[in-house]
Amino acid sequence: MNSDTIAAVSTAMSPAGIGIVRISGAEAFEIADQIYDSGTKKKKKLSEQPSHTIHYGFIVDGAEVIDEVLVMLLRGPRSYTAEDTVEINCHGGVFAVRRVLETVLKHGARAAEPGEFTKRAFLNGRIDLSQAEAVMDVIEAQNEYALRSSVKQLKGAVQERIKALRAGILYEIAHIESALDDPEHISLEGYPEELGEKNEGWKKEVETLLRNSEDGKIMTEGIRTVILGKPNAGKSSLLNVLTGEERAIVTDIAGTTRDTLEEKVNLGGVTLVLVDTAGIRQTEDVVEKIGVKRSRESVRDADLILYVADSSTRLDENDQEIMELLKEKKALVLLNKTDLEAVTTEESLVEKLREAGVDRTEIIPISALENKGLERLSEKVKEMFFGGELSFNDQVYITNARQKQALLEAHRSLIQVGESIEAGMPEDFFSIDLMSAYEALGRILGESLGEDLVNEIFSKFCTGK
Ligand code: GDP
Repeated sequence: MNSDTIAAVSTAMSPAGIGIVRISGAEAFEIADQIYDSGTKKKKKLSEQPSHTIHYGFIVDGAEVIDEVLVMLLRGPRSYTAEDTVEINCHGGVFAVRRVLETVLKHGARAAEPGEFTKRAFLNGRIDLSQAEAVMDVIEAQNEYALRSSVKQLKGAVQERIKALRAGILYEIAHIESALDDPEHISLEGYPEELGEKNEGWKKEVETLLRNSEDGKIMTEGIRTVILGKPNAGKSSLLNVLTGEERAIVTDIAGTTRDTLEEKVNLGGVTLVLVDTAGIRQTEDVVEKIGVKRSRESVRDADLILYVADSSTRLDENDQEIMELLKEKKALVLLNKTDLEAVTTEESLVEKLREAGVDRTEIIPISALENKGLERLSEKVKEMFFGGELSFNDQVYITNARQKQALLEAHRSLIQVGESIEAGMPEDFFSIDLMSAYEALGRILGESLGEDLVNEIFSKFCTGK
């Protein structure tokens, strides 16, 4: 347990209905007693009240009344940090919250460092590292998907999967070690094949988690999207509709700039990070808006291309060049200006796309001018990246870079195990790499290798010598 008592404002520092000052640590109740006045004749002592109760009263600093408050009492280990915790709900003005915090600090608490409450929850064993990281992600979540994913991780979904994997691996390490120790009683006859099969299963599982982490990244950070289209196709108009702003200058003269600009938009709960929008926004110069070379570059690190084709004109060589770029990426083709008489129809567009070697590309008729067709666009994006909305529910997404790194390391070790088995190496080779995989996975949960391994080996396999 940490000895000192920490305090911080746990709500945003902006004017609001209420603000919360949180105190955690051994002296939390004692400090609360000193600054709390129940306002009743018989002064109530918070330290004598039962846990998980709320008390009305005032925060006082000596004779000065600071604020009228509700105080929540949570005795450890049944609190967020697993320590004694007091939460003071005061009025939300920045000044009021700050004064309450100052009073708490004056009476013996130390100002908490960023993330220190969560760190304590981890150090006190209430949550694992994947959950601690999820707390940060929940706070930072920018869209519904990201939030749901983080909440799930917070509930321990990642932990469960990783723990199950580790348990399986550990069992085999223990088996190998015991057999090597006691060859008379434990045979390794036919064992490499058996291990090989299990190893394949673990590898697949890690691969699934890695694949999902790509989706996870997209979920939390957004889908990097580039809008392509020949000059005047309606890119800025689309951008305006998506961002809901009139910032772009919509004009018949095309333009370009070297600056790149990213804009985030929320499309039906999914975040699109529109990249290279400067080229679309800046339209003063009489130059092609996004040159082909430039397009190629922005396409390279995009997750999605939105190709805007103009239904009111013929497809030209610009369109053809863009179609070339579509082959490499996930793309949606938007046939714009459908409010006008069609020169280019859906059918002719499909044909040209097919000629260019682009197949399985959806065509969505839209009118950027009349704000039509965007719902369908949003649905298609969701389908494309998350297989519709539902599949999300049974997936575990590892989105954190640190966790992903550990997964990659585990994967490498498991590949190594497979190779050693193939090559007919002695069993102790397997256990070295299995151990590396076990450790790498443990890092996701913030566990360093320790007693659990030792205990496991000897409790399960010791043959009584
Ligand atoms: P960009 O060069 O691709 O960025 O194209 P703009 O967005 O600047 O649009 C070029 C011209 O087409 C402007 O005059 C827009 O008002 C017009 N435009 C864009 N979208 C539509 C649409 O859906 N319908 C019609 N009728 N005009 C549009």
